Amino acid sequence: MLVVGIISYYCRFDEFPVRYSLGSLRLAAKLSSIENISVSLFPVNCDHFGEGDVLQLMDDINAKNIDILGLPLYSWTVEISIMIRRMIKKHTTVKRIVLGGPSAINYNPDEWLADEHIIVGEGEIFLAEYCQKTLSDYFAVPHRNKDYSECENYSISDVFDDTRPLYSTEMIDKLKIGKLDDFVWYETMRGCMYRCAYCGHKSRSDVSGFSLMFLEEEIKNIGSLKTKRVFIVDPILGGTKDRGKEILRLFTKYAPDTAITFYLRLETLDDEYIEAIKEANVYEMRIGIQTLNKNVPQFIRNNSLEKINKAVKILKEHKIPWRAELIVGLPGDTIEGFMYTLKCVSDEIKPTFLYAYHLSIIDGTPISELVNKKSEASSKLWINKDAKNRASSCTTYSCEELKKMLIIGNAFTSFYNRNAYRMVRGTVNASPSFDEILEIIKPVIENIDYVSMDEIDGYTYVELESMWNKYEFRLNS
Ligand code: SF4
Repeated sequence: MLVVGIISYYCRFDEFPVRYSLGSLRLAAKLSSIENISVSLFPVNCDHFGEGDVLQLMDDINAKNIDILGLPLYSWTVEISIMIRRMIKKHTTVKRIVLGGPSAINYNPDEWLADEHIIVGEGEIFLAEYCQKTLSDYFAVPHRNKDYSECENYSISDVFDDTRPLYSTEMIDKLKIGKLDDFVWYETMRGCMYRCAYCGHKSRSDVSGFSLMFLEEEIKNIGSLKTKRVFIVDPILGGTKDRGKEILRLFTKYAPDTAITFYLRLETLDDEYIEAIKEANVYEMRIGIQTLNKNVPQFIRNNSLEKINKAVKILKEHKIPWRAELIVGLPGDTIEGFMYTLKCVSDEIKPTFLYAYHLSIIDGTPISELVNKKSEASSKLWINKDAKNRASSCTTYSCEELKKMLIIGNAFTSFYNRNAYRMVRGTVNASPSFDEILEIIKPVIENIDYVSMDEIDGYTYVELESMWNKYEFRLNS
């Protein structure tokens, strides 16, 4: 019997109350369908992982006599995984560590430890193959090479042909993961047909989806577990609009009490899709607008401003709630361009909720090719990043200007959403205009010099809250 452990990272538990990542469950489902392999999952909270937690994790791993431990490498878990793997070498009897996940491709081979392997690509097939080879001949599995790194030839249906559907009571009992009735992650496909230069979803070169038959079984499971919320992580629901509509219909039929969150491209909306959305139990529909500044090159923003306007009209007509997402710091953007985007979104597009995120520069994306090109005379567009791989300055904005955009973006969206929640609850019935919000957030803008880049998030949630309270007090008095 081969005993395999898999680390399951999670974070922001208040918002996403589940300790089991989709990736770890998929791996576990695949491995547990193979004879002579048993699987244990080890949840790790990335938001609170102190010394005591590390030692407890080592004890838990030792208690299970793990032979092979799978450690996921996402851009946000690389540091923690590297720390864990050193502790594992020191404190446990684990025989081999296998690192995999989207960031595995960027992992420096010089840093590999003995008895450590890297899997690049979708782990289900390679980890299973790796474990099967280990079962047949432990010493035949070579160290420090990339035998398991070819992922291009497989499609998802190959990967999952012989796996078992997730979230069945059988699977939950087998993995001993307790009750999963509040929130689960889910996926129906991988890859994306679009080519946005900043996107980190492009872990595969093609688009593949699970068969609708397979999905029907999984969605029935989600329905019978009476799961309250499901977050579908597909870059675009279902991968195509026809599959997207069908998946919504399957949820309406088999899991009507489960509220769904999903991503959509506005270009895919048509009358039929709108009907499917209206009938479904939609918790939140997330749509990337990114920027409306035409000076951000098309190869970066990859959106059609004309199509956005058309689709937004349909959403408004049908009173469908949705959340718009913007990116702060795209190359080509400026403070004026960003303010223009905020104005158009708040005064014309009027999404139900609005979020603005700091651009992350992910290795391997077209935007990452612009990094550190400032000194090259031929480079018309360059971008610099900070230690956390976030944009810091670029051809069209300085560090200070970016900071201003981020603070305005946080303050603006924070107020917009606060008002939006009140509209949903019926305590207010109109959203303030761009000019009104700017007036309200004026104190934030005036205090920009006193806030550091790292304090921006804290500033939003703590300081802004009291500012909005004062604003309401003024309104009510
Ligand atoms: S940002 Fe969205 S639409 Fe663009 S490539 Fe990535 S997943 Fe696809």
